Amino acid sequence: FDDRDGLIWLDGKMVDWRDAKVHVLTHALHYASSVFEGQRAYNKRIFKLNEHSERLRNSASLLGFELPWSVEEINAACIEVLEASGFTDAYMRPVAWRGSESMGVAPGKTRPHLAIAAWEWGKYYDPRLSENGIRLDIAPWRRPAPYTAPTASKASGLYMICTLSKQHAEARGFNDALMFDWRGRVAEATGANAFFVRDNVLHTPTPDCFLDGITRRTVIDLAQRRGIEVQERPIWPEELESFEQMFLTGTAVEITPVQSAGPWNFEVGDITRQLSKDYDDLVNGRIPND
Ligand code: PMP
Repeated sequence: FDDRDGLIWLDGKMVDWRDAKVHVLTHALHYASSVFEGQRAYNKRIFKLNEHSERLRNSASLLGFELPWSVEEINAACIEVLEASGFTDAYMRPVAWRGSESMGVAPGKTRPHLAIAAWEWGKYYDPRLSENGIRLDIAPWRRPAPYTAPTASKASGLYMICTLSKQHAEARGFNDALMFDWRGRVAEATGANAFFVRDNVLHTPTPDCFLDGITRRTVIDLAQRRGIEVQERPIWPEELESFEQMFLTGTAVEITPVQSAGPWNFEVGDITRQLSKDYDDLVNGRIPND
């Protein structure tokens, strides 16, 4: 990924893609003191940019470091990167981390850094899969408790669990994995939130130990605009059998129908299709944002 043409915003300057480097003795590389965002641009507009920049700053604060760039400055930098890329539709990756000024576990005088890159990234899963729904494995790893890690932060360290679960799922022939939390409740997928449909009501787990995704909140809003009842509540695996539809939400996966999760099967139904279309209309500016 490092060997391509393009520009990356690094600590306030646009640098050549191949020169956007860090030192091997970087605090973040050793101790996972880094946080990131994933956002998409549609038709040259970054969807929910302000929410993403706010979450980035908040994620860093939850790890004990403050970014010296305001939300407005981060927004402006993202727009600059998108414009420099020339892309109409793009995936964008802001990443912030503690630098190489100190090698102790204590962060000492490490300086905060920020980089922003953009690249073209179409559908997360093969579009044919998205039509019929993806197949999820049940992850062998669980989301940790909020007293084990700062679970509201989009912290790189928390993605170790996601990478392990996704790798395990793919090795077993699945597209992704559904993770439970430390209590055994249904939590989320490795890079997306989970929704279920039963009797025309939407159900989604309370995000008390995983990311309350920006797409998740957007989908709740879209459902409510259509008069669909939404229940945010604890969901235990025993209940999965009773749901008719399941889908995932996330910046990268957008709205992706699920065909099966472990032994539980679902259909790609009307509510999933409707919300998927509404989301597509919203991100492309065909329906208003609020
Ligand atoms: N959970 C995880 C683990 C994720 O990586 C993501 C993607 N950022 C989400 C949920 C969904 O968040 P969002 O809708 O803000 O992209």
